Amino acid sequence: MLLSRLRRYRTARTLRRHGLPDLLWRRLRRELYLLHNLSVRHAVRLRERTTLLLHDKAIHGVQGLDLSLEMKAVIAAQAALLILELDESSFDGWTELIVYPGAFRVRRTVTDEFGVSHEQASHLSGESWQNGPMVLSWEDVKRDSYHRHPGSHVVIHEFAHKLDALNGRVNGMPPLHPEMPIEEWSRTLSQAYERLLRQLERGQACINPYAATNPAEFFAVLSEYFFTAPHALKHHCQEAYLQLRAYYRQDPLKRLKS
Ligand SMILES: [Zn+2]
Repeated sequence: MLLSRLRRYRTARTLRRHGLPDLLWRRLRRELYLLHNLSVRHAVRLRERTTLLLHDKAIHGVQGLDLSLEMKAVIAAQAALLILELDESSFDGWTELIVYPGAFRVRRTVTDEFGVSHEQASHLSGESWQNGPMVLSWEDVKRDSYHRHPGSHVVIHEFAHKLDALNGRVNGMPPLHPEMPIEEWSRTLSQAYERLLRQLERGQACINPYAATNPAEFFAVLSEYFFTAPHALKHHCQEAYLQLRAYYRQDPLKRLKS
């Protein structure tokens, strides 16, 4: 009770002192297609949550990338879209967001089933550490934000991992609402995942094959489709679409034209 009162006080103070400039907000609403056709209630809430995220997260560019307030707000506004109808504390517990100018190179040591370690190097557009920082490539953020690439949105993808991690495990199941039976989510999502694996064996996946990496990536990729290509997701995978709609408590189908 005291905590929620404190939170409300802190929220009101942040919104008063660090409000987003009107001009900037109007430009974001116009230029980011995901922010089109929001109801008045959602638009007001999205602006508040964007402001809070910008205030709470330390967002900084590396390798010479100079991040303007607008660039940070592009990331924060689309992240806030995921939690429009979720608890405002959903992205608490971590603070750092690092932005590279383009895809970044990572080197990892992975141990295979025989216990042999291999060095792997790859290029990533985004990465999210459990309880730790998020890393994004600005080039990819820009590509996905200003032009619609159905099924591809690195901000949605990485922030979906953060929601997935809220119950302590990144396993493709975020903490569900009380009215959502866990068995129904598990059954529906596992069936859809198995179907994707079978489609891949036949070489005809209907969504990004990266979703088949593991259940956590499946949830993150489904979230990308849910927000950027809801028609396609509903068409190919209606049951999963309905589960995501129940979880996110919003329906992008009402905002996006097909
Ligand atoms: Zn991922």
